[in-house]
Amino acid sequence: MKFGTKVIHAGIEPDPTSGAVMTPIYQTSTYAQEAPGKHKGFEYARTQNPTRSVLEKNLAALENGKFGICFGSGLAAMDAILKMLEPGDEILSVNDLYGGSFRLIRAIYEKFGLKGKFIDMTNIKNLEKKISKKTKLIWLETPTNPMLQVVDIKAICKIAKKHKVKVCVDNTFASPYLQTPLDLGADIVTHSATKYLGGHSDVVHGAVIVKDKKLAEQLYFIQNASGAVPGPQDCFLILRGIKTLHLRVERACQNAWKIAKYLRRHPKIEKVFYPGFKDHPNHKIAKKQMRDFGGMVSFDLKNNDVKNAMKVLSNTHLFTLAESLGGVESLIGHPASMTHASIPREERLKVGLTDSLIRLSVGVEDVNDLINDLEKALNSV
Ligand SMILES: *Cc1c(COP(=O)(O)O)cnc(C)c1O
Repeated sequence: MKFGTKVIHAGIEPDPTSGAVMTPIYQTSTYAQEAPGKHKGFEYARTQNPTRSVLEKNLAALENGKFGICFGSGLAAMDAILKMLEPGDEILSVNDLYGGSFRLIRAIYEKFGLKGKFIDMTNIKNLEKKISKKTKLIWLETPTNPMLQVVDIKAICKIAKKHKVKVCVDNTFASPYLQTPLDLGADIVTHSATKYLGGHSDVVHGAVIVKDKKLAEQLYFIQNASGAVPGPQDCFLILRGIKTLHLRVERACQNAWKIAKYLRRHPKIEKVFYPGFKDHPNHKIAKKQMRDFGGMVSFDLKNNDVKNAMKVLSNTHLFTLAESLGGVESLIGHPASMTHASIPREERLKVGLTDSLIRLSVGVEDVNDLINDLEKALNSV
């Protein structure tokens, strides 16, 4: 099955009890048993739920994996992955990652003896030097948030295999429509389904997808034992969102391309970060491992002027000033004070995340209206 068919059909059958074409929301906490231990595969809704099971099968298919495991949020999904590690283990991560992911490692798991190291993974040699006997997990985000760096998943997985280190890719920014890391050698893929998978900014949800049965068993065990599961209504909304994933992401990419080109020509703008540009330092890797370059664009104003950045951020009307990304509607954000405020300023500046950086999540509106909106906001500077 090709991607555009999988989003609608993979793992999804008419409901066996009624023939309902759309997966029903099984809003129940428990299931009747015929005799003790004799049941239809469902005992208690933390452990199994039919709506969730359908979504888990669908997600596994989209990422070319075998098992999907759903959680109440993207960070709950990451939390479950980190729980597979032991005190003393080390995680090597990209240095330009989602603020909440950084915080989970630093503020929660370091207390329990894990160690996080945040490095520049666009430099492969750098990575190999940093791997030690204690390294058990490599954590990738690509494209990264908000600098839109792209790291070479295949090359990193090759090095990791040599050292017997597992690789997890947070695939939230690309979505499985643009990139399938398991095909490039990754062991684990994770998502904040809140973003492109859900796609309508109406639900918080997370997922993990793997191929390996042993890994899946550990993750299902943690899903049930720790209990950070999503409700059935949330699973239904993600299933519904996924049906148009390919259409939404395709349009978002087209719009983002046009907006990135418009911004780059603008005299008040210093730099535009978009992996589609030929002179983006990681353009070749992006072209190799992604179907298209994504719906996220970041830019910096001339002289890194923070006051002017604030003006732009306060003067768009179609672009809503808000955290999050990946919805049908366009959003504008200020990473330094919003999504990345939990990362210390000196760490932010190291990766080029200045106080004047602006991030766009480009939606699927008419692109001319979006450009006019940015034009008006830039005129306020
Ligand atoms: C939003 C986000 C997360 C966290 O997901 P939640 O659903 O908000 O818990 C993790 N990684 C990336 C790249 C994100 O954008």
